[in-house]
Amino acid sequence: MMRRVDAPFTPEQVAHINEFQLAGYMHSFTCGNCSGCDRDLVATVDGLHCRRCDYRQFWVHSFMADGSAVAGYRRMFAAAGLETPNNQAGPPHG
Ligand SMILES: [Zn+2]
Repeated sequence: MMRRVDAPFTPEQVAHINEFQLAGYMHSFTCGNCSGCDRDLVATVDGLHCRRCDYRQFWVHSFMADGSAVAGYRRMFAAAGLETPNNQAGPPHG
């Protein structure tokens, strides 16, 4: 069962969430209003927000906030000798 973490987030959680959003290992949280690129939500202590409109989201999965998802994928990719997704043009969408 996946747990949720609600805003307000700690600065450390914000850093982990934004790292997750940029890492490209898993689908990032995106705006519910906008389409196309540039719609990844950006985390602050008050929650996540869209850079293009006033869309807000106030929770994330616990594995995003504690850094475990990125750390786990990073180990897995390193063990397999694969390049990390964020070395490519951008995070996958869709
Ligand atoms: Zn938006």
